[in-house]
Amino acid sequence: RAKQSGRNRVRTYEAGMDSESAQRLILDRDLRAALTTGELLVHYQPVVEAVSGQPQGFEALVRWAHPQQGLVSPGKFIPVAEDTGLIVPIGTWVLGEACRQAAAWQGRGQALTMSVNVSARQFEQPDFVAIVRDALAESGLDPRLLILELTERVVLRNPEAAAVLLHDLRALGIRIALDDFGTGYSSLGLLKTLPIDVLKIDRSFVQGDSAEVMVGAIVSLAHAFGLKVIAEGVETSEQLAMVQALHCDGVQGYLFARPAPAHELMPVRPGWPVSPEQ
Ligand code: C2E
Ligand code: MG
Ligand code: MG
Ligand code: MG
Repeated sequence: RAKQSGRNRVRTYEAGMDSESAQRLILDRDLRAALTTGELLVHYQPVVEAVSGQPQGFEALVRWAHPQQGLVSPGKFIPVAEDTGLIVPIGTWVLGEACRQAAAWQGRGQALTMSVNVSARQFEQPDFVAIVRDALAESGLDPRLLILELTERVVLRNPEAAAVLLHDLRALGIRIALDDFGTGYSSLGLLKTLPIDVLKIDRSFVQGDSAEVMVGAIVSLAHAFGLKVIAEGVETSEQLAMVQALHCDGVQGYLFARPAPAHELMPVRPGWPVSPEQ
């Protein structure tokens, strides 16, 4: 009967929703535990100078070594952690880890930058500047080596407040990068008014159709505002040649190296990292 099947349809729909929210609850519970049991890891991906291929620094990227599921990518758990607020303690932990690692490399004579991703929830914490100041103080990292990466979306939630906060962060001596540039609701006016240092061109522009036009336009714009530009997601030597020809300052991508644990990356010889073949 129509009424019956209608009711069934509703029930199935609800059941689907329930299992989805149940999965998120489980994920949240497991993630909370992971933070205390050492299942969270930080991998590092090199950022190289476009012209020379010399290392200029690393980006810290969180990973979850799940006991059953293996390495879980941040794309799976960061959105849930953002919803529940768990991203705040996770982010503070990643920042501390990354600063300690960069300070260790700095201590071995390698003045490499460390870029750390910051989500909206972290950025909106009233004590965020203090959290960053503490991470610098505890690690002893030279603030000039720390770069915080924020997306346009985070900044655009409240541009005036963001500008004030970014100004306070930069007063610590650190730098700010706008991540995934071009994927949000970019406003060109933002580039003029925001205190930022670096634009990271999203890999969809580096790899997509009309890459040359898009990358070229973003680079001119960024350089006109005195910003450095990093091209993300460079996987082929053709893409590398293109972003070099278009005067990108830095390059990040699988062509050079995938994100890896610090001990696999430690530059044992000057001139590291690896050549593009590897
Ligand atoms: P993102 O900040 O834009 O980081 C770059 C992503 O592109 C990383 O993915 C990196 O592994 C990947 N990637 C780098 N080179 C290539 C390439 O040549 N080809 C392809 N296909 N991909 C490349 P990952 O590590 O899965 O991280 C995804 C996103 O998760 C990050 O994007 C960032 O938004 C977020 N995320 C990662 N770690 C953290 C963290 O500690 N805190 C916060 N809030 N977000 C994080
Ligand atoms: Mg990033
Ligand atoms: Mg990015
Ligand atoms: Mg991204």
